[in-house]
Amino acid sequence: MSLSISKVPTPINEPVKGYAPGSPERTSLKVRLAQMAAERIDMPLLINGKEMRTGKLAQSSMPHRHAHVLGDYHQAGTAEVQQAIAAATDAQKDWANLPWEARAAVFLKAADLLAGPYRDTSNAATMLGQSKTCHQAEIDAACELVDFFRFNVAFYERLLKEQPYVSAPGTWNRLEHRPLEGFVFAVSPFNFTSIAANLPTAPALCGNTVVWKPASTAVYSAHFLMKLFKQAGLPDGVINLVPGSGATVGDPVLASKDLAGVHFTGSTRVFNQMWRTIGNNIDLYRSYPRLVGETGGKDFIIAHPSADPVALVTAITRGAFEYQGQKCSAASRVYVPSNLWPKVKDLLVAQVESIKMGDVADFSNFMGAVIDAGSYKTQKAAIDQAKAASDASILVGGQCDDSEGYFVRPTVIITTNPGYRTLCDELFGPVLTLHVYAESKWLETLDIVDQTSPYALTGAIFAQDRYAIQQGVERLRNAAGNFYINDKPTGAVIGQQPFGGARASGTNDKAGSVLNLQRWISPRTIKETFAPPTDYRYPFMQPE
Ligand code: NAD
Repeated sequence: MSLSISKVPTPINEPVKGYAPGSPERTSLKVRLAQMAAERIDMPLLINGKEMRTGKLAQSSMPHRHAHVLGDYHQAGTAEVQQAIAAATDAQKDWANLPWEARAAVFLKAADLLAGPYRDTSNAATMLGQSKTCHQAEIDAACELVDFFRFNVAFYERLLKEQPYVSAPGTWNRLEHRPLEGFVFAVSPFNFTSIAANLPTAPALCGNTVVWKPASTAVYSAHFLMKLFKQAGLPDGVINLVPGSGATVGDPVLASKDLAGVHFTGSTRVFNQMWRTIGNNIDLYRSYPRLVGETGGKDFIIAHPSADPVALVTAITRGAFEYQGQKCSAASRVYVPSNLWPKVKDLLVAQVESIKMGDVADFSNFMGAVIDAGSYKTQKAAIDQAKAASDASILVGGQCDDSEGYFVRPTVIITTNPGYRTLCDELFGPVLTLHVYAESKWLETLDIVDQTSPYALTGAIFAQDRYAIQQGVERLRNAAGNFYINDKPTGAVIGQQPFGGARASGTNDKAGSVLNLQRWISPRTIKETFAPPTDYRYPFMQPE
């Protein structure tokens, strides 16, 4: 691998397009949406650059119109997974031996394609397959992914500059940023096209080769991402796509001696299960696999009695209900002081009732459908439980209808019990739980927020009082990896708020930062001595 360092363009965040009526981007996205919705495509596996069809088919359909099938994808079995592992290990030497600039160029080209001619395809796939509005698709499948590609190249260049501080006279010390020995297993969630793409590409930029398993409900956008990588010049075998059921794909991969790392985003339960399997298999592996997992959340907003109620309610509405609450960062528990409650209640009920929900191809909608029947069932069960509970009730929302799409109205559960189940468990949908606390109990409530749930991903405090803000910053130090003051807890931007949480929310390796990339290298220290000693004896040993 080349050690040469050249300057990469300084990245700036990809500007977010507005899609206002009459704008050219709105017109062209609508055309692409109609084209893609009118097709039913066949989606093969991609192993060593070759399309592979197993005939074991599953459907990708629209969550907001589940009878509408967008395509049929082929599922991998054990044999195909073994082929993908072989393809990744075979490709590694050539890929790793390329000068780093050559690998970086592939991803910089992918960024340019995505920012330009590929933008509509990536956005439309994410809207149709994952039920995102045009704005939610734009900030994810276009802008954040462009940022991942461009910023990761700049971060990687920075990582390569990390070299030993000193070389003693007559020697030269240097660090070679080798990729890991073996392949990386990337396992992605349904909810962000950008995360799905970053999981395989961040390790690949560093010279690793990858077996990639996308979420079954996001194979449609993954199919188009593979086309983008190919168009950008990614060589065969570097990223191998194997959709399929979790265990069918996961078990043979985790049993491979060449497993060098896992780059995972998804639920805590699945990551824990993978970690346990890896622990049990530990004697099999050539190296200790790197385990990077960004997992669940139960993200909070807590307001101090000095908070601005209007700003608070806007943050709750956007933070909890955009993309149907299916962001790992989405606010899902809120703590409001008693002095603000009458005003907050009126504003919140009015705002949530005004939310328009429906087909994402109708640009007047703020929300689409939840991802699938499983999620719909989870949300409905939590709503039904609150309706029947003695210590909780539905403040607003609560209507569910899955006749056409998996629609759950934005819902606020209010509870008098600070330990109520939905203040602790992740639901991953548009169902928020709210607790009103006595305004004199600010500090006690901070401790409750810290201790209520096992997660620690994102959190926000709203306050005007500077002392109160500082109390929140200190007492909630370990309650969130991304902490916001007077802002909603969603919407982290690459290069601005590196993202990730600790406790049950993951290994906190901050996707889209130098901290994440360093997990995909295994540095080799090289010391070269120009005039090696020729006598083993030291001067102190000489006669007096
Ligand atoms: P999920 O855990 O159900 O699935 C994630 C991936 O794991 C999928 O590709 C799935 O097929 C795969 N999988 C399941 N069982 C497996 C096994 N035995 N072996 C290998 N792979 C297996 O998660 P999801 O529903 O797709 O996404 C939602 C979850 O992701 C939520 O918990 C959310 O909080 C979390 N998330 C976290 C972040 C973050 O940055 N912390 C970001 C996005 C999503």
